Amino acid sequence: MIPNGDRKRRNHKRKPKPKRCPETGKIKFPTQREANEAVGRALLSTETARNERRSYKCERCGAWHLTSQAKRVPERDQNEYEGWT
Ligand SMILES: [Zn+2]
Repeated sequence: MIPNGDRKRRNHKRKPKPKRCPETGKIKFPTQREANEAVGRALLSTETARNERRSYKCERCGAWHLTSQAKRVPERDQNEYEGWT
């Protein structure tokens, strides 16, 4: 005899599922502000091992995503080389 009452426990708390970008699979944030708030939470909760450091606007879906990658600064060496010669 197996009691089958346990299966109903799953919907005691319904969280709205975050929408995800079809291109990147990342969570979509409608505004940069919300994305940045999420970054702040990620940085605070070190135990979750989340590495998101900044937000960026997705060109595919137009929403904001989080990324762990540092901002690309391709031209950053320009000033450093000045004065070397
Ligand atoms: Zn996207």
